[in-house]
Amino acid sequence: MKTIGLIGGMSWESSLEYYRIVNETVKTRLGGLHSAQCLMYSVDFADIEHMQAAGQWDEAGRVLAAGAQRLERGGADFIVLCTNTMHKVADAIQAAVRIPLLHIADPTAEQIKAAGFNRVGLLGTGFTMEQEFYKGRLVSKYGLDVLVPDDDERRIVHDIIYQELVLGVVKDESRQAYQQVIASLIERGAECIILGCTEIMLLIQPEDVPVPSFDTTTIHAVSAVDYALAGEPTMI
Ligand code: GLU
Repeated sequence: MKTIGLIGGMSWESSLEYYRIVNETVKTRLGGLHSAQCLMYSVDFADIEHMQAAGQWDEAGRVLAAGAQRLERGGADFIVLCTNTMHKVADAIQAAVRIPLLHIADPTAEQIKAAGFNRVGLLGTGFTMEQEFYKGRLVSKYGLDVLVPDDDERRIVHDIIYQELVLGVVKDESRQAYQQVIASLIERGAECIILGCTEIMLLIQPEDVPVPSFDTTTIHAVSAVDYALAGEPTMI
């Protein structure tokens, strides 16, 4: 089994889910007392959020690249960055280490393509919904047609992430607000929805969405296990 190097803390509420999912998935695959071999470097999210708000992406990239180097020195075989938004600095992280970074958008897009969908609705932070680093990869590498909520709806989706979900606050009224945003994406032609922020799965479950949803936390964590176990026998 390869050693998974997780860069977490963005927020720790979702890093906890990554830790749970990688361990549960290894247990399901290998049985018995098996669990994931992993390291986590967890940042202080207040620092990262401050850099995001101030547009200090180069500085944030340096912090996360240094985290990746610590994981590499600690014996990680590959890097899993436990946030969609901070993939904005994925290239800076990858350039700092010799081990691979498993980009969160790749297994997500592959699952969407395998399910036969082309027009996707994307929910995430304002950075993820508005900037090219994420949408652009879905479009140019996978040929997906990406719809994002309108201005007011994006504000609602973004604020619920930063004011509630990263603090572990899950409210019924926020779930309903997300469901309204999802309904308008579907009305505009979205065939499925990407939960493109690693905390959204705390609020929205598949049964809350009338079309298939793709939870990036689960997809990314399971794909990390796929990579860690490549070549390992699975339980019969
Ligand atoms: N976890 C979130 C994401 O997946 C947002 C927190 C952050 O800004 O990293 O985008």
